[in-house]
Amino acid sequence: MTKSDELTRARQRMVDEQMRGRGIADLHVLDAMRAVPRHLFVPPEQGNLAYADAPLPIGHRQTISQPYIVALMTELLELQGDETVLEIGTGSGYQAAVLSHLAKRVYTLERIPELANQARDVLSAMGYDNVEVLVGDGSQGLPEHAPYGAIIVTAAAPKVPTPLKKQLADGGRLVLPVGQQMGQVLERWRRQGDDFKRESVAPVAFVPLVGEHGWSADERPISWWA
Ligand code: SAM
Repeated sequence: MTKSDELTRARQRMVDEQMRGRGIADLHVLDAMRAVPRHLFVPPEQGNLAYADAPLPIGHRQTISQPYIVALMTELLELQGDETVLEIGTGSGYQAAVLSHLAKRVYTLERIPELANQARDVLSAMGYDNVEVLVGDGSQGLPEHAPYGAIIVTAAAPKVPTPLKKQLADGGRLVLPVGQQMGQVLERWRRQGDDFKRESVAPVAFVPLVGEHGWSADERPISWWA
């Protein structure tokens, strides 16, 4: 078997065991998870763990999220294919690549320039040309391209950042972890006119959203994992 066949098999197994087996049912999401070569988004020394059921370190005390959590958050966005999506927390660029299969356009914001540059290079080398990587404090959103049909925050917020609610289109979905620094609840907010309906989905553990509408940099504990 070639290396490429092995990787395709590893992705298929990841989808069957970690996603379908745990209730992810959206066929478009499963196809996207099968399509994106996750091993190209993890540091070379983590390559043999790329399809493992776990988050992995990507440097700068940050992580690429567990594949199941990527699939779950993506499914919760209920993408139809015609949306402009905003992601806060580019990290490795993997979640943005998954979103690019399912939406018209993806804007993704990262506060650490080195991670943003690396993700931009990988995404562009792989031909993901409907994704734009920007550097900045995503807790303030990205007003210039609002409103967004969907917003996903892949870092933990102490509470829902008000600018993100304002930048959500009517009928849009906002998915994010909300809570304390050591543990949060994954929430989905749905905009209906000026009203927002909130659903609590699952307990999760994310690195903190650091910024004006997140945690301040000096509130961060020494080390982080998930
Ligand atoms: N989605 C990423 C992926 O697919 O690899 C994983 C994201 S990682 C769990 C969280 C990321 O959020 C980190 O790269 C971190 O630097 C970033 N982050 C934290 N606060 C931020 C902020 N205010 N604006 C933008 N990015 C932020």
